[in-house]
Amino acid sequence: MNLRIPFDRVNWVNTSFLFVITLLGVVAAPIFLFKHDLNWIMWSLFAFYMISTGLSITLGYHRLFSHLSFKASWPVRLFTLIFGACAFENSVLHWASDHRTHHKHTDHDEDPYDITKGFFWAHIGWILFKLDAEQPMDNVKDLRKDALVRFQDRFYVPIAFIAGLIFPAAVGYFTMGGMPGILAGVLVVGALRVVLVQQSTFFINSLCHCIGEQPYSTRCSARDSWIMALVTYGEGYHNYHHEFQHDYRNGVKPWNFDPTKWSIMALHKLGLVSNLRRVPANKIIGAEMKEAQRKAEAKLAELKAGEGTIPEAAMARVNELLVQLKENMKELETSVAESIETSRESLKRWEGETRELVRKLGDLRLVAA
Ligand SMILES: [Zn+2]
Ligand SMILES: [Zn+2]
Repeated sequence: MNLRIPFDRVNWVNTSFLFVITLLGVVAAPIFLFKHDLNWIMWSLFAFYMISTGLSITLGYHRLFSHLSFKASWPVRLFTLIFGACAFENSVLHWASDHRTHHKHTDHDEDPYDITKGFFWAHIGWILFKLDAEQPMDNVKDLRKDALVRFQDRFYVPIAFIAGLIFPAAVGYFTMGGMPGILAGVLVVGALRVVLVQQSTFFINSLCHCIGEQPYSTRCSARDSWIMALVTYGEGYHNYHHEFQHDYRNGVKPWNFDPTKWSIMALHKLGLVSNLRRVPANKIIGAEMKEAQRKAEAKLAELKAGEGTIPEAAMARVNELLVQLKENMKELETSVAESIETSRESLKRWEGETRELVRKLGDLRLVAA
């Protein structure tokens, strides 16, 4: 294995910042918390910053600015631009440019966080090293038209430091008093929170391309995982997201844990956001059925090539479900061709049968003849 570190290509600004903030958040903050109690105001501020910084990245930087999956009024844009900066993940222009390139070239060389270059690269390596020439950023011209975006890009560093570290330190100073108050602000509400939110974002680029299911497509490495959704504010349904990137929902099923989606829905109820983009339900189930059929063909071919026999009872149910799947796909095709709206009952039944087929395929094993 080649473990040579390309020191001549290290991005020293990013690397030094990440090193210091991680040291402060992971080492200094726990030592401080062991020795000092935080008052309820500082704990509340920590919770507020965790939620607003995290959501400003997922709801703002990602779903709003990178994918234009809804329209937002200026207070929402301003809020997510200020608290997004507090995550120290660069200005939204740079973030969205990288992210749009990621979607355009997923798993290929041009993808800034290409998972095929390994877990470390996709997680953090791409931030620490500058292996390629600077991107021209010609894919965010639409965002440059927004004065608030231009303002954030110009003053990103002061905004990040003032709102992300100095303001919490000031609140600590005035509510807890003296040096312990300042340290509570800088170490806990600042550094610890920055590290947690950053790691949550980094996981989307690394683990969300490694663990979980691929119910919608296997065209790229992105995967759906409810465990990842728990630590990424709902962004863990990454297979769905890569297949339908302009949908404001990542967790599209009602049972999916997607607090970013719920926040967008709440803002919509308050009249602060509009034009929420949704992929029609029949298109989503269509993708699921196509993928289930592909999986079935691949699995059956694999089993046929192996030694042993497929248990008859299990195979009978799979065959039944396969016949049903083909009928359902035909029914869907007809309804699309004739512009007939598919009933909720049909969609639910198709979804249930497709999922059962995928489950049963997973259980199929060869037994000795
Ligand atoms: Zn991705
Ligand atoms: Zn995306």
